Amino acid sequence: MSMECPRCQRSLEELSLGDVSTVACPHCGFADVPVDHVSEDDEPETWRDAFNRFYEDTVGREDATER
Ligand SMILES: [Zn+2]
Repeated sequence: MSMECPRCQRSLEELSLGDVSTVACPHCGFADVPVDHVSEDDEPETWRDAFNRFYEDTVGREDATER
């Protein structure tokens, strides 16, 4: 089965990272990376950082309210 990139509609490239396999687009840099470590030259840590920041902010707020 061939998957198409949701951004540019070109063929995605499958990447195997140990036991985890995922797909990424070599054309526009789109990466379907829901979890785990990613070692691409893209910037998957950007959204992970943003997510962590959001998560910590939410938890921190709830925690502050509790105490
Ligand atoms: Zn693409």
